[in-house]
Amino acid sequence: MRKRVYIAYTGGTIGMKRTRAGYVPASGYLQQQMDAMPELKHPSMPLFHVHEYAPLLDSSNMTPREWVAIARDIGDHYDGYDGFVVLHGTDTMAYTTSALPFMLNGLGKPVIVSGSQIPLCEVRNDGRENLITSLLIAANYDIPEVCLYFGGRLLRGCRAVKVSADGFAAFASPNVPPLGTVGIDIEINWDLVRKPRPRQKMRVEELASPVVSALRLFPGIAPELIRNVLRPPLQGLVLEAYGVGNGPDHDQAFLAALTDATSRGVVIVDCTQCLEGTVDLAEYAAGSALARAGVISGFDMTAEAALAKLYYLFSRGYGFGKVKREMQRDLRGEMTITD
Ligand code: ASP
Repeated sequence: MRKRVYIAYTGGTIGMKRTRAGYVPASGYLQQQMDAMPELKHPSMPLFHVHEYAPLLDSSNMTPREWVAIARDIGDHYDGYDGFVVLHGTDTMAYTTSALPFMLNGLGKPVIVSGSQIPLCEVRNDGRENLITSLLIAANYDIPEVCLYFGGRLLRGCRAVKVSADGFAAFASPNVPPLGTVGIDIEINWDLVRKPRPRQKMRVEELASPVVSALRLFPGIAPELIRNVLRPPLQGLVLEAYGVGNGPDHDQAFLAALTDATSRGVVIVDCTQCLEGTVDLAEYAAGSALARAGVISGFDMTAEAALAKLYYLFSRGYGFGKVKREMQRDLRGEMTITD
């Protein structure tokens, strides 16, 4: 029996049309391009259904509302398909692949998010390979995870970051090896793939509208700026700090702004600006001062995953203490716990 894959087409370069003003998403255009690809009809390919979203979006316009729409869409079609491919713009793809694993609780089928740097309508494009391989993985590999497939690498979605604005290998997961690599063969690193919990039913956990934010430290950052960001009604902040999580501990006004916010119940999570490695707030005085101000470690989570996790946890209605605890636990493979 041929496998069945559901394609959720949200927008992005892969299906865009060339116009005088540059590439734009155009309704029906991706389907037209796919109809003209004989390889998609080959018996070795799964059967698929394309659901085009309206409006199609450049992913720069995506918000958590669109993450919810994608999660619901997968939930609504979950039983009828063997796997799912989400076609998505590359710009905020890593945010979406960070949020979906939290929202698709108990996922037991592959969800492969992909797109391209050059649209399918161009003679030389990366969309064709990304689309065909995503379909094959979604149909034939028992990977119960949200993954990002791009440029020959299958990455855990909640570990992925966009690392190139124009390369075909546009994504990486610097703190965990790829779940798979694609060359002559599709090779899956099965030791890394998460095991489905037997008999757990997939449940879509929607997002509410908590107030969360992210802020990147930079030399000379004014404490007033921090204070303004941390004002009510803010509930959670991803603080993108230096190196192993350090910040300017000589600046008492900066530390006071953090302390004031955490004592009001704002969850401040420290993630590193470095692509690789983990936060360790005990290594330097410039880190331990942040910990004393009530900031918690995000360990090796990406800022994308930390932000998505804050959205998810606050949407569950958890209080400050529970959100802090859950932020420091691995829920979906988003962080490495070393002790
Ligand atoms: N701006 C596009 C988007 O994110 C870029 C892409 O798809 O590659 O939708």
